[in-house]
Formats: sequence, C-alpha cells, structure tokens
Amino acid sequence: MTKIDFASLYHRFDAPIAHFDCGARCAPHNERGVPFCCDTRHAVPAVYDAEWEYLQANTDLWHPWLGRSPAERRRLQEETPDGMILLECKGSQFCQRQFRSLTCRAFPFFPYITRDDWFIGLTYYWEYEYACWVISNLHVVTDEYLAQFFAAFDELFEHMPQERESYRQYSMTMRRVFGRRKRAIPLLHRNGKMYKITPRNGRMRRVDARSLPAFGPYKIARELPFADENQP
Ligand code: SF4
Ligand code: SF4
Repeated sequence: MTKIDFASLYHRFDAPIAHFDCGARCAPHNERGVPFCCDTRHAVPAVYDAEWEYLQANTDLWHPWLGRSPAERRRLQEETPDGMILLECKGSQFCQRQFRSLTCRAFPFFPYITRDDWFIGLTYYWEYEYACWVISNLHVVTDEYLAQFFAAFDELFEHMPQERESYRQYSMTMRRVFGRRKRAIPLLHRNGKMYKITPRNGRMRRVDARSLPAFGPYKIARELPFADENQP
C-alpha cells in the first residue's frame, strides 16, 4: 500500500456537486439552519488516519468528534472502520473549502460496486433521504463533479484496496435493503447517464433523473402548485 498525497487529491476533487450552493436548499429544513451534512447531529465525518495527519499539519479546522454522550461516542466509534477517525469541524460558517475532508466532498454519495465486482458508478447513502436535498434532485449533479469523484476513488482504491472491498460490501448491503423494500437502486453511471438497478438481478434501466422520487420535505415541496418555478 502506497501513501496518498491528500493535498493533491483534495485539489483534484474540489468541484461542487451542483452549479449552485446545495447547502442553501437543505439548511432551511434543518432546525439549526445549517446544511445537514455539516451538522454532526446528522452526519459525523470519518477521515483516514493519513488524512487526519495531513489535516492536523495544515489547518485548525478539525478536532476529534466527542459526541453528545459517552454512549453515543462508543456506538459510533464501534461502527467506524479501523484506520479511520471521527471528526467535527468548527462549523459551516468557518468552513475552509480546501480542507474539507474526503467525506465532505463525496457526501451524499459512495462508489457503487456491482455483484460481479465493477465500480460502475455512484449511488447515495440512503439513510440521508430525509435530509439531503441533492438526493431528491439528482439531475443537478454536474459532469465535472462526477469525473472528479470517479478519479478520486479510482486513485483511493489503487492505494487502499481494502476500501474498495468496504464499498463492495456496502453496495451489497444496499442491494439487500432495497431488495427487501422492493426498491430500485438509483445509479449515476460513469458514462454520465442515470440508471435504476434491480437489486435482485442487477438489471439496469436508463431513466431520466428528474423522474426519480423526492423524499421528506422535498417531496412535499415538489407536490406544491407552481413547484416547477422553484426548481433548478
Ligand atoms: S450535499 Fe445534501 S446535505 Fe449536504 S449541503 Fe448539499 S443538499 Fe445539503
Ligand atoms: S468542513 Fe465544511 S463541508 Fe465539511 S463538515 Fe465542516 S463545514 Fe461542512
């Protein structure tokens, strides 16, 4: 395993998800008024040990996450893979874009690996459907963001093959969960197109990203009269 140059990786994986600030779309739905992915009550960023070394040497933005109680800390730490540490930043008003963690940059997405072991695209952490506006609006994801996401994770997997295995396992879990719920998995493919995957057999169907469902408050917003006027 060779060492990753996080300064360089961060520099090459820097494109925003959309052509506008998606945080402005979700923050009004969070009672703290900040983006859900920047609020550790909803999502706690995990970084690799080497990434933490890089961050500690270059910024005071981050500190180890302590949780709201020892029980919460213990529970999340038990779920955190070896070689990673849970962090908290100073808050969204103090964000330093160049020192956002890899987790911040990838959220809400993760690499999707098929049952026959191909990293063909990305899908999202479904437990954030209630919160993340992007998940309800996948059509806004730019080609530039997708290209940078794939390049970053191709590089990461080359250096850390065990990470590829973790995402393979996680993709398997998603197939199991979505299969049980009789749901198709949305996939942003490397070819730039959107697909729905049938979890049981891996069959892929091309879809229009705008036809995919919205969730939580974004579902309600979409159903309002004149909703189209407010959509990007
Ligand atoms: S990625 Fe999702 S949760 Fe994070 S700021 Fe954008 S819409 Fe909000
Ligand atoms: S570093 Fe920036 S993007 Fe990441 S959690 Fe903090 S405020 Fe959000």
